[in-house]
Amino acid sequence: MERTYIMVKPDGVERGLVGEIVKRFEQKGYQLLAIQLFKPTREHLHEHYQDLKEKPFFPPLIEYMLSGPVVGMVWEGKEIVKTGRRMLGETNPLSSLPGTIRGDFCVETGRNLCHGSDSVESAEREIALWFPSGVIQWERTKVQKLIYE
Ligand code: UDP
Ligand code: MG
Repeated sequence: MERTYIMVKPDGVERGLVGEIVKRFEQKGYQLLAIQLFKPTREHLHEHYQDLKEKPFFPPLIEYMLSGPVVGMVWEGKEIVKTGRRMLGETNPLSSLPGTIRGDFCVETGRNLCHGSDSVESAEREIALWFPSGVIQWERTKVQKLIYE
């Protein structure tokens, strides 16, 4: 089973969309392994977005991410890294289809509500960064058989 790191950004938290985003991953059949409200430091966000340090949008991205608390989550399921990103939508919300989180709830790339890991490797790196003491390992018994063949 694959794991991914999904994060509701400050705009999503302040707009009261945490439940909506959690709901979509729950309804899909994915399993929650960790969830926490964080007020990250600048250094922590630099670690998280280490691959984007040279991008022109990096400084405003960090200010945006520092503008309020975020909700970090670890979800587990089949092909969840790729599918999770499809559920979020495109980076630019105006290119995101209706039915996706960004397609349904936001307009601007710099206010795009949510983050999702872009590969299995970055997922594991991000999970270790945000949840260094680990996540809850638990088995769903009945429901697992209703979701997976
Ligand atoms: N971003 C931005 N302007 C851009 C590209 C990205 O403000 O031209 C922001 C946006 O919030 C995005 C984040 O930087 O979600 C990280 O960029 P990335 O390319 O990793 O997009 P994502 O993986 O979040 O879709
Ligand atoms: Mg990214």
